[in-house]
Amino acid sequence: MSKNQTKYIFVFGGVLSGLGKGIVASSLGYLLKSLNLNITIQKLDPYLNVDPGTMNPFQHGEVFVLDDGSETDLDLGHYERFIDVNLSRENTTSSGRVYWDVLKRERKGDYLGETIQVIPHITDEIKRRIIKVNNRKKFDVIITEVGGTVGDIEGQPFYEAIRQLILDQGKENCLVIHTTLLPFINAAGEVKTKPTQHSVMRLREIGLEPDMLVCRTEDDNHLNSKIKKKLGLFCNVLPEHVFESPDVDSIYEIPLVLNSQKFDSYIVSALKINLKNNHTKLKYLKEAINRYKNPEKDVTIALCGKYNGLHDAYKSILEAFIHSGIKNKAKVHVKWIDSETLEKDSLEDKFLGVDGILIPGGFGNRGIEGKILASKFSRENKIPFLGICLGMQCAVIDFARHISKMNGANSTEFNKSTKYPVIDLMPKQKKVKNKGATMRLGSYKCSIKKNSFAYNAYKEISIEERHRHRYEVNDKFEKQLLKDGLSFSGKNKKLNLVEVVEVENHPWFVGVQFHPELKSRIVKVHPLFKDFIAAAIKFNEAK
Ligand code: GLN
Repeated sequence: MSKNQTKYIFVFGGVLSGLGKGIVASSLGYLLKSLNLNITIQKLDPYLNVDPGTMNPFQHGEVFVLDDGSETDLDLGHYERFIDVNLSRENTTSSGRVYWDVLKRERKGDYLGETIQVIPHITDEIKRRIIKVNNRKKFDVIITEVGGTVGDIEGQPFYEAIRQLILDQGKENCLVIHTTLLPFINAAGEVKTKPTQHSVMRLREIGLEPDMLVCRTEDDNHLNSKIKKKLGLFCNVLPEHVFESPDVDSIYEIPLVLNSQKFDSYIVSALKINLKNNHTKLKYLKEAINRYKNPEKDVTIALCGKYNGLHDAYKSILEAFIHSGIKNKAKVHVKWIDSETLEKDSLEDKFLGVDGILIPGGFGNRGIEGKILASKFSRENKIPFLGICLGMQCAVIDFARHISKMNGANSTEFNKSTKYPVIDLMPKQKKVKNKGATMRLGSYKCSIKKNSFAYNAYKEISIEERHRHRYEVNDKFEKQLLKDGLSFSGKNKKLNLVEVVEVENHPWFVGVQFHPELKSRIVKVHPLFKDFIAAAIKFNEAK
């Protein structure tokens, strides 16, 4: 693109949350990137938490961690998975963060003499942050998604800041996309546009107008030209700027669905973006969706978690299953197993028909004993196993208790006075008092031993993976565990920390202290997930 002017695209949501605004933003990112544009995506979250790191996954879904250790909203995960770039703390902002920074400056005396107000101080800080993502002036387009829905009280400063920013940057350089719901009312037998009209009215009240609408529709109730015209008329947008985002089998279809409606071409022409090549490259995605829809095999993975009631709590793991399923030409089915139930029910029954067991990360001792039993079951029955963070710690506890005969071995997170604290707080963590942003967070190096499951997967001896935890394998017990056959195939040499454990004489048993799911992408499946699913397929075929 010949330019100096960066283009700004804002993605808002109306009517209700959960419409897939993040997927629309990510899909748009995918399409623009496919046109060879340099793009980034950022999220503005109106809630008052400084970041989502301290939020309960039941309320907010998973906390997504970036390389730089920022704890972010799960939408950042979608962005990275779609556009295949590593984002940074500049791509995420919450009201809490904005107020925190403004108030810190106020205390320092930076605003001496002034009355600190939402307009201009908070809005200026929001604008500063929106622009800061392009610090190095490398982006052609910045996509900014605002969390929540138009009309939320907390969101108002963000919309006001965007209104001002559009004026600053020039209307011709900015575009507002409003995502809304078009419900189909059975009794009336028709799609209703009123909720969309109302949410657009809310936007207009605050001086903003959508340039485009992306309407969520249910199967078979597609947008026709009559509804497009009506929406255009009432919402003051061109009928050809009304798009549809229907329910689909896989979120990775959305870029294709939008592209088939010429969404990307309309955006490019509305923003007058000069392209060297205006052919959107979608071959890879088309093939991936084709494989996803026509799997050659089926595998079932037991996911033994404790936040099973909200699948978003394990979003990145579920996405990594999709990526690794596509790579292995298999459909990955998830059997949700509440780890607490493993403490009382028969494991044979629970794991019936299961080809692989995954124990995800987590905090607190609820369901821990069940997770330890799940590790034992998969070890003894030679079922492929992937333990992630807490899951890896449970595998080490299982091994210590049942193979190394360290009776009552535990993590000091669950039993402070255990005789065998095989998992313990790092000395640095012992002094930590505050909960927010104080874990071992973000990307750390790990050296991989040859002749291991991990090496076979990565095919590299040095990797980097993302972390979010306080506890570690206690090096006091390493020697004994090693002697008894637990292999430490990945280590952070600088900090002398165990990163990967494996059980030998097993088809595939790997525990990792980090979170591989955070780095799996539609165009680049994570090697551990790929091999875990491959091992599960083998297990299934050998049955
Ligand atoms: N609770 C464990 C720790 O803090 C594991 C954390 C996790 O699984 N993310 O070390």
